Amino acid sequence: KLPWLPTWMRFAWLSDIVLSTDVQQKALGRRFLVAAANCLAGVLALNVGAAHGLIDAHARFRLTVAALGCLAVFYALMRSGLNRRLSDPTMIEAQSWAAIGFLAWGYLIGGPGRPVALLLLAAILTFSVSSTTYRQLVRESTLAAILFGAAMWQVTTLEGGAATSSVMQAVYFSVLLLVLTTLCLLVAQMSRLRDEAQSHQAELKEAMARIRDMATHDDLTGLFNRRHMLERLNNEKHRSIRSGRGFCLAMIDIDHFKRVNDQFGHGTGDQVLSSVANAISAGLRETDVVARWGGEEFLVMFTDTDLGTAERVLERMQLALAQSTVAERAPQLRVSFSAGVADYQAGELLTRTIDRADRALYAAKAAGRNCVRRDLGVQNASQAA
Ligand code: GH3
Ligand code: MG
Ligand code: MG
Repeated sequence: KLPWLPTWMRFAWLSDIVLSTDVQQKALGRRFLVAAANCLAGVLALNVGAAHGLIDAHARFRLTVAALGCLAVFYALMRSGLNRRLSDPTMIEAQSWAAIGFLAWGYLIGGPGRPVALLLLAAILTFSVSSTTYRQLVRESTLAAILFGAAMWQVTTLEGGAATSSVMQAVYFSVLLLVLTTLCLLVAQMSRLRDEAQSHQAELKEAMARIRDMATHDDLTGLFNRRHMLERLNNEKHRSIRSGRGFCLAMIDIDHFKRVNDQFGHGTGDQVLSSVANAISAGLRETDVVARWGGEEFLVMFTDTDLGTAERVLERMQLALAQSTVAERAPQLRVSFSAGVADYQAGELLTRTIDRADRALYAAKAAGRNCVRRDLGVQNASQAA
């Protein structure tokens, strides 16, 4: 793009008229214009040659009409949008084949100007290097070798099979093959580089996703980690201040977890942790968020929820957990948790809400475990009094 030019000078309006307002069609149109310029250059060279009596005027006329007609057909297809109905809407390969055909024809009748056709062929194929696939270019090169080979053969017979002429044509043909082979190798290399870049990019994307996952999740349980939970809590706090709708926090701690470790080993302990994490997640709504807050402690955020509802949800979880197998190696083992809930109070620091939930958790432990206690906070407590 040309950012330093005023908009009207970028001729967008012109390309809107000449090509299309559609971005994709416009890109195809620009490509077509380059090919058309090439074609017109060839036609011009042909006519200059004819004007100087170097090229047969009739042959020149036929080729000029055919080439301009072909150009008009491609343009009409593109401008009308009919190209979209073709199996290859870009028409890139068709354009290349037509160009190769006309250039070989031009070579045949080009007299002393024949090398111009070879130069234009090289220009067209080089230009297509960035947009064709390796297979396409091999097909185009094969076509060029066959058509130009035939034209060159024809030229040697036209010129009466003179030895110098045959040698020149053979030299041209060899150079042509060399150029075509080089271009094919170049494209092969480019597509290999492109593939590599693509796979690197995919790997990078995957690594980024993994890193993002690792930064926000806890390894053992797969729950959110403490850092990510703090972010979510902060967001929820702001949302709550804006909307005026409250939320609750629950601090959960597994009861007598040390005993599990002591009796069954750390591995089983880990498995229990994981099972309890699953049980908690399963008992929550989509909008609630749970994180592993510490060793065997979990913090739950109940959005848009009052204390009573949060308590009921937690108690239902406790009932479900009481009937769940939590470790494969100890199928008879049952664990329970205690929980303390506190509702966020407008203007309060989050750390304070968490502390209050923690305090309620201690109250639940003191009350004999496997139960839920609430912390009413200063305001609610004074209202209750
Ligand atoms: P209480 O009912 O009072 O909570 O008793 P408790 O035994 O659960 O006491 P406490 O909370 O103090 O003990 C937590 C234990 O959890 C101590 C620690 O060894 C264990 N623990 C912490 N993190 C992990 C972990 O990642 N894996 C395992 N297996 N154990 C852990
Ligand atoms: Mg515990
Ligand atoms: Mg603990």
